[in-house]
Amino acid sequence: MVRLALTIFLLPCYTLAAPPADFPGDETPYRVTPTGTVSPDYFFGTFLYKYLDCNKNFGPGAKDKIDEAYHDAWLISNTAGVASGINWNSAAAMEFLGPSGLNQAQQPQIQAVFANTATVINGHKSPFQHFIKIRCDDPEKLCQNQPDQDPYQPNPLNSGDPPKPTPLSYSRNSDPDNPDTPMINFCGGFFARRSLADAITYGMALASPDNFNLANYDNRAQAFLHGLYHLDLAANSPDPNPRVYDLRIDIKLGAHGRIYTTDVYGPFNCKVLARWLGRDPGSHFVGYYIQRNSDSLVYYAFAKYLMSKNGNVYPHLPIVTPGIAGPFYPPYRPDSLAVFVTEGSNFYLNTTDDLTIWDSSPGGNYPSCSSDKNGSESSSPLTIDGFAPASAYPDDYNSQVSTWIEALRSTDGNSNLGWGGDAGQQIAMAS
Ligand SMILES: [Zn+2]
Repeated sequence: MVRLALTIFLLPCYTLAAPPADFPGDETPYRVTPTGTVSPDYFFGTFLYKYLDCNKNFGPGAKDKIDEAYHDAWLISNTAGVASGINWNSAAAMEFLGPSGLNQAQQPQIQAVFANTATVINGHKSPFQHFIKIRCDDPEKLCQNQPDQDPYQPNPLNSGDPPKPTPLSYSRNSDPDNPDTPMINFCGGFFARRSLADAITYGMALASPDNFNLANYDNRAQAFLHGLYHLDLAANSPDPNPRVYDLRIDIKLGAHGRIYTTDVYGPFNCKVLARWLGRDPGSHFVGYYIQRNSDSLVYYAFAKYLMSKNGNVYPHLPIVTPGIAGPFYPPYRPDSLAVFVTEGSNFYLNTTDDLTIWDSSPGGNYPSCSSDKNGSESSSPLTIDGFAPASAYPDDYNSQVSTWIEALRSTDGNSNLGWGGDAGQQIAMAS
């Protein structure tokens, strides 16, 4: 019995992997240690280390911005309703993780990815020690616009579009110099973003309806989280959870329009993916794709975090919806409402606009890049060819959407929707 007890006691010690050969590098490693929850000599958790060329390439504050974003990514991950207890019938879950009736098979794994990520970052509940190598030297030459012949800098997805922007960061499960260690490389766009706290302050101060649009809250913590989900370490993939990639979709613009190809980045594209029925309804439903797309997870988690700061108001713009009953009044803001139409087998977005209004982010950079698109599932984009019907959603959610759309019909836009000091009518319902 004594030996058994001793073995059990010693087991966690064997889970401590030796630090990578290049640990710690010239910079001080960083790990998240929330005040008051760990002792000073607590050495579990996941260390960031090395910071290769970060301060050299992006100024003396670069390391601090990375460390802060890592800490703030933990804050987002640790939000109530993210790390545990997802309310699958909430608007945020419906719009980014898919309708609750169609993602049931994937719900445990999606929840597990959120939980594992929060645990991996701070290690509080897990007797493990991990390492993520941080670099800013761009080993794959992805941070800069490359010549056309460079395979890492593909031409624009759609002819006529401007050159493809560069990523904020990129993640790899194997560092090119240290194959057993995951790495994240940060590019210039990451440092140009706001911190989490500044983004919340900035976004909430915007006039209505811009304060309801999640795209206006882009921040470094969210970008860090996006890169983390790509790592097997954070997502606990490929087993038991599938790897998290950046999916690519085709959207038809107008009844007789062209096909627009886009990566599933940003709130609009994520909402489109979440409403899509799937390539093979019956076996590959909504949740199958959702759980493989990093920004879908990021925007759900971030929406919940924002709601923890704004009085629990769901930031509902842009609205993505199938055909609207009754007369349709074009919204006064073209980026606030996306209506998809079904005419026989023809499924399209009812727009004459260029879709770049939906998926561009400030600075034109995109969140991150995984090593491939659509994972091992397919090399071709997913064709958005139909939406889940309203009947797949709870009545409560459908009534919220109706209220949001009705507000867009008013001539004064959403001016009565603000939160804050004025006694505005708050129609965006909690959770
Ligand atoms: Zn990515």
